[in-house]
Amino acid sequence: MENQVIRCEKCNKVYQRVSSLRHHIITKHEPNKLLMLQFENQNLQFKINLYVEQIKFLKRLIVLQEQMTSRRPPTLPGDIVDNIHDVSQNEFPSIK
Ligand SMILES: [Zn+2]
Repeated sequence: MENQVIRCEKCNKVYQRVSSLRHHIITKHEPNKLLMLQFENQNLQFKINLYVEQIKFLKRLIVLQEQMTSRRPPTLPGDIVDNIHDVSQNEFPSIK
């Protein structure tokens, strides 16, 4: 027979699909679970945004490192250290 139904154990409502019953149980009988799921979802989206930002940051870092190794533009913080090192070498050549 096709009329196989699933009954809700808590209120005896009848459904034809497991997914419908599951949805009914979560929305009608387990509101906390629904809230938990929504919270988890929000948390995941927050994490995804965080990872996307981290990836963007790392990409920028990689680009910066590539620029440093290939062209060495003077505005980068790594080069300032080099410049200080050069100046001290010029002023105090006998230090080493
Ligand atoms: Zn029910």
